[in-house]
Amino acid sequence: MIEFEDVTKRYPDGTVAVDNLSLRIPSGQITVFVGPSGCGKTTSLRMINRTIERTGGRISIDGEDINSKDAVTLRRGIGYVIQHAGLFPHKTVVDNVATVPKLLGWDKRKTRATAMELLERVGLDLKLAERYPAQLSGGQQQRVGVARALAADPAVMLMDEPFSAVDPIVRNQLQEELLRLQRDIGKTIVFVTHDIDEAIKLGDNVAVLRTGGKLAQFAPPAELLAN
Ligand code: ADP
Ligand code: ADP
Repeated sequence: MIEFEDVTKRYPDGTVAVDNLSLRIPSGQITVFVGPSGCGKTTSLRMINRTIERTGGRISIDGEDINSKDAVTLRRGIGYVIQHAGLFPHKTVVDNVATVPKLLGWDKRKTRATAMELLERVGLDLKLAERYPAQLSGGQQQRVGVARALAADPAVMLMDEPFSAVDPIVRNQLQEELLRLQRDIGKTIVFVTHDIDEAIKLGDNVAVLRTGGKLAQFAPPAELLAN
């Protein structure tokens, strides 16, 4: 479980992006942060891997304060996928996925096999494994981004609008595949979107934020729809 207790982010210019946010993100489920542009979704997400440092309150993962270890160690246990996959342009697809395991010093052959397995899992045509990111479509790049984030077998996956930049048909496929993947791997996924339909489709729980970074609702989709 990831717990936010009275978490606040005030940027140096005085903008309060997240205001006293308290919620519990259950393990092994998909929790979606949804709300209008500027309501603090990305800030909330990035405080979990400390790519943004909160200015108030506490965040813990399985009871352990995220500040109890250094940020680099923390991030090893947290996969991160963003809107434009952010792949390394000079590495092939398979090498992109293998980057973190290599850094961790895993056996080379095993790393490659794991990378190929992950690419298959996210539904990438394995013929593309030796290509470079620029030779892939946006949807294919996002699949590689997901595979790369999974490579170190993190307990937690943070996903920030991962499917927003692809066309609606591919987005739909990626959503279906994420749900299928999640049934197999059961990670704790925190997913940010501005699209309420996507939130309802993917979320076991949905945190609705409103402008000013306050929590409006936190509930399973069926309960949100009832309100
Ligand atoms: P969302 O992801 O919901 O679009 P963000 O978390 O990106 O929202 O931003 C929340 C608020 O914080 C917005 O008002 C945004 O303009 C502001 N903000 C984001 N980053 C910074 C920053 N580095 N400095 C000042 N304000 C920021
Ligand atoms: P995206 O919408 O692609 O998530 P944004 O365009 O909102 O990204 O923000 C891009 C970068 O600018 C981020 O690093 C964010 O922290 C920063 N940023 C966003 N809003 C502000 C702001 N009001 N003042 C300063 N920096 C900001």
